[in-house]
Amino acid sequence: MSYTTTLADEAATQALGKSLAPCLLPGLSIYLHGDLGAGKTALTRAILHAAGHQGHVKSPTYTLVEPYQIMLGQQAVKLLHFDLYRMISAEEFLEAGFREEFNESNICIVEWPEKAEGILPEPDLHIFLSIAGDGRHVELQALSDKGNECLALLRF
Ligand code: ADP
Ligand code: MG
Repeated sequence: MSYTTTLADEAATQALGKSLAPCLLPGLSIYLHGDLGAGKTALTRAILHAAGHQGHVKSPTYTLVEPYQIMLGQQAVKLLHFDLYRMISAEEFLEAGFREEFNESNICIVEWPEKAEGILPEPDLHIFLSIAGDGRHVELQALSDKGNECLALLRF
């Protein structure tokens, strides 16, 4: 299953994040693709805020990951926001124990998954963002049953 749309402005990106938040499932992994400024962090921020996170959402550029806890209904779920842009080596990723975070319980949202190609598992969902005029083009592509389940819930 896949879904394509345009996001005319930042408010539309926020609205997509708000629509995606209730579609999240435990164990779901989402890989965000797109150039610098495409809106990967903006979308993640919108998802987190819509999922009930009240504080700041910083871009984990230097730490590679920032963990959050969100509520899916009554269930507390760990959501990890990765930004692998500055990842130096596979060893760095593996030694930090990041590979173990991609499991049946956690939600993982990853910017720059290309930097860890070969060591990251296949995601449930790819989201491709690109600059289109003043706005953004977005494509959501499910790769697994869980990804399809997520997209089937999406109302946007
Ligand atoms: P990335 O994480 O992909 O490098 P950011 O989310 O940090 O990108 O930055 C995206 C920039 O684009 C922000 O300045 C944001 O305000 C802007 N932006 C986000 N969505 C849209 C949109 N749909 N149309 C126009 N500008 C957008
Ligand atoms: Mg970013």
